[in-house]
Formats: sequence, structure tokens, C-alpha cells
Amino acid sequence: MGQLKISQVFGPTIQGEGSAAGRHCLFVRTFHCPLECEWCDTPYTWAVTDAKAAAHRDGFKYERDEPGYGLKRMEPWEVLDRLLALWDVQDRPTVIVVSGGEPMVQQPALIPLLHTLAEWGNEVHVETAGILAPLPEFDACVTQYNVSPKLASSGNRLSKRYRPAALEALRDTGRAWFKFVLTSEWEAELAGEVDGIVRDCSLDARRVMVMPEGAEAEGNVRLARKFADAATRRGYGVSFRTHVLLWGNDRDR
Ligand code: SF4
Repeated sequence: MGQLKISQVFGPTIQGEGSAAGRHCLFVRTFHCPLECEWCDTPYTWAVTDAKAAAHRDGFKYERDEPGYGLKRMEPWEVLDRLLALWDVQDRPTVIVVSGGEPMVQQPALIPLLHTLAEWGNEVHVETAGILAPLPEFDACVTQYNVSPKLASSGNRLSKRYRPAALEALRDTGRAWFKFVLTSEWEAELAGEVDGIVRDCSLDARRVMVMPEGAEAEGNVRLARKFADAATRRGYGVSFRTHVLLWGNDRDR
């Protein structure tokens, strides 16, 4: 249990990505991620050493303790207080998106917070790269997992980013959706990596979505237009970053 490592608590806003895109929500963004995706849109949660900064394409080293988005060590009740200041999550329950970073590295510490939020009637949606299986007490609080397994384009080595046993454990909850980020190399990524993971981990195509890489709205749409037909022929859905279409790269939306 113990303290949580938090980067941001913000909202109300909408979920931008995946099967719950467009839904009203608040975000709890955890600090720290064991992966180092070169196109990550939240590098301020992990690119805080020279080596980690070099892994990201911007090459920028963030301050670990930067007051706005850096590391904040918070008790679960402090996160609840912050959420309550933003929205009455006790009497007007909504969707709470627990994102990162990688929140599932903090499962034991997150349980009391998620338990209270779920008890109040909120839906708890956990965003994860799918490299860790859920603990039973953690899983009991989760309404939906938004799992985004990372492909070679992320720059992480295979053994670090692809953990079939974790993906299968998430699949077996019956509450997981899988979302893959495609780049300009989408044809090879779709036919090689995505189809391979879907097949090898026996994922249900109806719970698979693909999404264009990039934090720029028009480029996002242009790229998605290229692969939308190939995705839907396979039974996969297509996701955008809806928040980027609405608010650009505002970190608080
Ligand atoms: S797994 Fe997610 S948070 Fe971690 S580096 Fe990759 S995109 Fe960023």
C-alpha cells in the first residue's frame, strides 16, 4: 500500500482514445513508466534522467520534481480530495481514467483509492501497456482496461514491451480493450505485428482498435484514412485522439 507516485489529477474532460472515447471523465495520471516509447505523449512522467531523455525523440530531460507535472508523492485520500475539488465523484460518479506513465506498476498502492472510487459508483478505467498481469484485489476495482501493447516503432526492445502472459491475463478479465498505435509503416505493422499478437494471444478482434501515432490533429486524420479500410476488413476498430482534435496538446485536457 502506501503513497502514490502521481504526475497529474485533472478534469473534467473527455476520454480521448479507445472504446470509451468521448466519455466524460477525470484523469489520475501516475508518474513513472518502465518503457521508453520514442513517440510517447507524456514523457514528463518518465524522461527524467539523461538515458531516458535520450530514448525519446524530443531528447528533452524533464525535472523529476517539477511542480506542475513532475512527481508528487500523495496519499490515496489526497488524490480523492483533489478529485472531489474538481468534480463531485461521490454524489455524481463518472469515469475515472487511471493513466500514466504505467499505473500498473503501482497496483498495491492504487487499491485503496480505486476501491473507494468504485464503491462510490465511479467507473475505473485503467490505461496500461499490458506488460503486467492484474492482482486480484486491484482487478476487483477495475471496470475496464485500455491496453496498448507497444510495437517495434516504440523503440523498446521486444522482451520489455511484449509480455504474452500479461496480455492473456488482461484478456481473461473480459474487461480489456486492446489498442495498437500505427505509424507511417502501418502496412507492415498491421499485417506483421498487430495480426501476430492478436493471433498468438487469442485476442477478440471486436475488442481490438488501431490508432494513428502523432499529436497533431490533421496528420492524425490523414494517417488514419490510409489504414481505416485495412483495419475494418480485419474486424478491428479505429480510434483517434479526440482530445487532440478538440484541444491540441493541452496537457490538462
Ligand atoms: S508505455 Fe505509455 S507512458 Fe510508457 S513510455 Fe510508452 S507511451 Fe509513454
